Amino acid sequence: MYKYLREEIKNLKAYRVNEMEYKVKLDANEGIDWMDGLNRYPLDRSDELREKLAKNLHKRAQELLLGNGSSELIELMMKAYLEAGETVVSISPTFSMYRIFTIIHKGRYEEYPLDGMERIDVDRFIEFVDEKNAKLVVLCNPNNPTGSLIPKEDILRIISSVDAMVVLDEAYIEFSDYPSGDDTGEFKNLVVLRTFSKGMALAGIRLGYMIGHEEIIGYINRVRSPYNVNVLTQSVGIKALEGEGTTKKNIEMIKSERCRMKNELEKMGFKPLDSQANFLFFPGEMGLGNSLAEKGILIRSFGGELEGFYRLTIGTPLENDAVLKAIEEVQNERSKLK
Ligand code: PMP
Repeated sequence: MYKYLREEIKNLKAYRVNEMEYKVKLDANEGIDWMDGLNRYPLDRSDELREKLAKNLHKRAQELLLGNGSSELIELMMKAYLEAGETVVSISPTFSMYRIFTIIHKGRYEEYPLDGMERIDVDRFIEFVDEKNAKLVVLCNPNNPTGSLIPKEDILRIISSVDAMVVLDEAYIEFSDYPSGDDTGEFKNLVVLRTFSKGMALAGIRLGYMIGHEEIIGYINRVRSPYNVNVLTQSVGIKALEGEGTTKKNIEMIKSERCRMKNELEKMGFKPLDSQANFLFFPGEMGLGNSLAEKGILIRSFGGELEGFYRLTIGTPLENDAVLKAIEEVQNERSKLK
């Protein structure tokens, strides 16, 4: 929304790249082709990929903006909306990059604690956003690292009640039971961020997208670097959209493995939270992460306030079995030492 935009950006025009048909192209200081046409810059706004994606999402291409991972898109929101000293509100614990990007962009970061890490108290959260006079509210749904999902009715109430831009980071949405579709057409203070890194299992290509009202997408284009999505990524992205069947099958497999792993961990005495993402979050003995790493098994350990908590990504059945076996070994080794 225009009202929330940084003052400098209000007067800025988006950089426009000339993408006309040509016989001879000598307008962009490109070199001579020696490797598969890669002397050319990519399409600045990833038009072909953007249009295909828009069709899949039942959106118009003007309502989408692609980025070098959704990480870039989080940062672009701050570039467009956050003046120095202004506040970004999120919940805690959540994805740590929100804080880091806020600090880089000279903002203040305020977190609303998720007591017990269960359902958020929406009225109190809205009050918190007001009290802190937030310019941006970033919500990760399902949340990383807890895996919990804010119900759609709560999300809608937050968006319609706060006087701020809302960034809804749906990086893990494909693993959840959240109703499909989005509400970006309805709200002018909302953008939804998605990624090819998780559900589509293509973290290596670095591709994310923003869904938002056409007007907002126009503003974000003012702060985006030209050609931010490279040629290789655009072409793999287009191909990936054709592999929808495989993606769906993988997601179903992860969801069923998530259920199995939760049961197995519970049998071993752990208490993982209910998760709607492709990971489980649970408290465990100090040093569990290191003991597993010594066996070549990597899970995520946390420090600070989350010391003693672990996040395990759901892998293939074979990988998951290897994790269970290693945890059992660690438990046996420790019980012998006691
Ligand atoms: N949002 C969340 C919640 C994440 O967990 C991650 C990756 N860990 C990202 C965004 C960034 O994803 P990417 O840049 O790969 O799209």
